[in-house]
Amino acid sequence: MSNPTVFCTPQPPHSQHLMAVTPRPEQVFVRGEGAWLWDQSGQRYLDWLQGWAVNALGHSPAVVRQALAEQSALLLTPSPALHNAPALALAQRLCAISGFDQVFFGSTGAEANECAIKLVRKWGRMTRAGAHEVITFHNGFHGRNLATMAASGKPGWDQLFMPAMPGFAKARLNDLASVQALIHEGTAAIMLEPVQGEAGVYPAQPAFLQGLRALCDQHGLLLVFDEVQTGCGRLGERFAFEHYGVMPDILTLGKGLGGGVPISAVLARAHCSVFEHGDQGGTYAGNPLMCAVALAVLDTLSTPAFLAQVRQQGALLRQGLEHLSARHGLGEVRGHGLLLALELGQNTAPEVVRGCRERGLLVNAARPHCLRFMPRLNGTAAEIEQGLQLLDEALAAHRLPAATTMTA
Ligand code: PMP
Repeated sequence: MSNPTVFCTPQPPHSQHLMAVTPRPEQVFVRGEGAWLWDQSGQRYLDWLQGWAVNALGHSPAVVRQALAEQSALLLTPSPALHNAPALALAQRLCAISGFDQVFFGSTGAEANECAIKLVRKWGRMTRAGAHEVITFHNGFHGRNLATMAASGKPGWDQLFMPAMPGFAKARLNDLASVQALIHEGTAAIMLEPVQGEAGVYPAQPAFLQGLRALCDQHGLLLVFDEVQTGCGRLGERFAFEHYGVMPDILTLGKGLGGGVPISAVLARAHCSVFEHGDQGGTYAGNPLMCAVALAVLDTLSTPAFLAQVRQQGALLRQGLEHLSARHGLGEVRGHGLLLALELGQNTAPEVVRGCRERGLLVNAARPHCLRFMPRLNGTAAEIEQGLQLLDEALAAHRLPAATTMTA
């Protein structure tokens, strides 16, 4: 192990052969089904990570397994320079339900966002005399390739892997004046997450997004929404831009789109869909196996009944978290739909996460001071009750040793 101080728990055999890019608990996970994950010892966990908001329909849902089985028997990878039926069908479906005109498929969120940045730069060169600067936001997160790290506003990242890619100016979320002050003739776009997920689930205010749209219209800029985390039903609408009623010019999707398999997408309106041959590509771009799965996932999660149920589950989880916050003297509950955070008011999130895991619940400490919840979108009220009960026990053990556990 190159950096033994990174880990605070014993590690499984062979872990020394994995680059130490993140601390991991000692468990090795071997099976997932719906809301549940099992480790090698047979211990079962209620999973409120769901692959980092990826498994929109839970672990290994039947629709994903079926699409994989059917498509893998037909065609895996023809070539990104040949048409395939699932890519055509998925592009048509995405445009039909979103109001966008054209799509480029990638594999990861970072790839989709880098593609969006390239599209902005190309558009700026063609229509705005080479304007290329993108206004992004402090604490924003857009991915881990060099362009998207520069676009992100994660504290400390501006010092990593120098020199950073130029062309990004940082404004503050929900502070329109901070955006306005950065606009100049070299500005081409404003890019943000409608809810800052990795930052700890901080939603944009509706008036702020409306203000950004107006600024873009006034100054001739493109508005880019990174919906890698907020898209595909997570907020209880198909897309966050529908939740807010503000239409961007470019939209990126990832995570939930594939329901557990790697696929991402960049959607553009006709006026800024300016790529020409050779501008963009990728070996797995529009891979039929991933597109077939995404089509099945999208068909499942974009029905009104499914989305209504996400909103209902979200309201239930929010209510339970607010109850726990009051009971344990914690802070606010933030977010929309099934992307929620509980503010702890102090940097105890890693210990609470450990306490939850010991009790059979997987949650994420988005920041040391808050917990983030990303359960599957098609879960049950009983799962939410069970998760809240386990969280209550973990919070009680950590913060209030004398407290009794929740019985409601
Ligand atoms: N954008 C947002 C808003 C994200 O939350 C993430 C991942 N957490 C990414 C981009 C990067 O996606 P990926 O890890 O698939 O590259």
